[in-house]
Amino acid sequence: MVDVAMPPVPARSRLYALPLCGLGTAQVESMTSYTARLAQAHGLTVRQLVQGEIWPRFAGADQPIGGRHLAASICKDDARALCGVRGWASQWVSVLADLTGRTDLHCASLLPWANVLSHVDLIRGERAWCPDCYQAWHAAGQTLYDPLLWAIQEVLICPQHQRPLVAHCPQADCQRAQPHLTSRARPGRCAYCGAWLGARTGSQPKLSVPDLAWQRWVVERVGELLAHTPRLEARPAAARLAYAATCSLQRLAGGSRYRLARLIGRHESVMETLRGGPQAPSLGTLLRLCYVGGVTLLQFLTETPLRLKPRRMPARPLFQPKIRRQTSHDDQAYRAVLEQALISSAPPSMRAMGRRLKCDPHYLYRRFPELSKAIAHRYLAFRQAEKAKRIEQLRARIRQAVVALQRAGILPSRNRVREYLKPASFWGNQIGYEAWQAAVDELGLAARQP
Ligand SMILES: [Zn+2]
Ligand SMILES: [Zn+2]
Repeated sequence: MVDVAMPPVPARSRLYALPLCGLGTAQVESMTSYTARLAQAHGLTVRQLVQGEIWPRFAGADQPIGGRHLAASICKDDARALCGVRGWASQWVSVLADLTGRTDLHCASLLPWANVLSHVDLIRGERAWCPDCYQAWHAAGQTLYDPLLWAIQEVLICPQHQRPLVAHCPQADCQRAQPHLTSRARPGRCAYCGAWLGARTGSQPKLSVPDLAWQRWVVERVGELLAHTPRLEARPAAARLAYAATCSLQRLAGGSRYRLARLIGRHESVMETLRGGPQAPSLGTLLRLCYVGGVTLLQFLTETPLRLKPRRMPARPLFQPKIRRQTSHDDQAYRAVLEQALISSAPPSMRAMGRRLKCDPHYLYRRFPELSKAIAHRYLAFRQAEKAKRIEQLRARIRQAVVALQRAGILPSRNRVREYLKPASFWGNQIGYEAWQAAVDELGLAARQP
């Protein structure tokens, strides 16, 4: 007898079960990078993915976050929270897990360590990357992505290439800092001008020798923690910190809170965060404590009994307490540079002026309101003119394509025009559609939609 029963079909996920890059290693992918790649794999923008698939599945999706709806804000300042330890990063992971059927996505954030890490000073404000890594992956034909390690504020260098991470676009006339996620984010590309971020820039940030040695230790310890996350049996509880803090206090400072705080260059009050206060200690504090105690961060947060091996510390304190430095401003020199900027052929933004003068743009706005506003207006006008120029060029190219296809006896449908224009990167938006429609109408063609 023939068996006509359906073979068992495994459950299907709504979106592709895209694997995380570098899972189980120090180079595990970040949640923002995964979100961008997931959108790309479905031919969507990040915003379309968030608005159409992720956000509607959120509990309390009707609640605006920070005055805006998440779909809009996620593509800007709020994206960094996806890599961190706070509540809605966890909702994000569970929604994406439902959509993709993957159970390992929590490893793309620091959520598994949420009870023992503070969100303060954890994830850097803007995206940072290693151009050499992008270049090497590109040359080897590997997937481009952003490791979670690059998003962590304490990490300043790439462990592979031992070079400082970069945080500004290398394109001379762009140089903008990058948000963690934008609507049209593409791995390895500037969010604003599309420039290749793997390019080497002339001026590279530099670290002093002691800073570099400290950084090597930091990236190794943090990397170890990230690599271990998938094998973590249970999330460390907040009580773990109190245990590790008591061990440290006894073994490293003979019970003196003041001595321990001095050893790690922090204020005495930091001990409260370690002993179960309302707020967990910052990652920087934990790293310093581990260094002084001669253990790894992973041991400090998971090993019982905790065997500290106090390091012999130099007479001069290794970690200096934070001192707020008073910046001195040279207003006369600032004014001269700003006035020059107002007549330069390539109008700079006020943000670029801030970078050039190594000064907060807010200060410049306060001291030179008229001059600053004039520079900002000129920059805005310049950007608008550039945009109009680009749109005009696109319209002309689309019209040209429609005419060329029609002459060749081919119906200039949207798909054929798109094929013809390759590699036109900004086809597919409303402007492209309207330009195509206008060209088709003008030629009196009844071209079918795609
Ligand atoms: Zn690198
Ligand atoms: Zn750029």
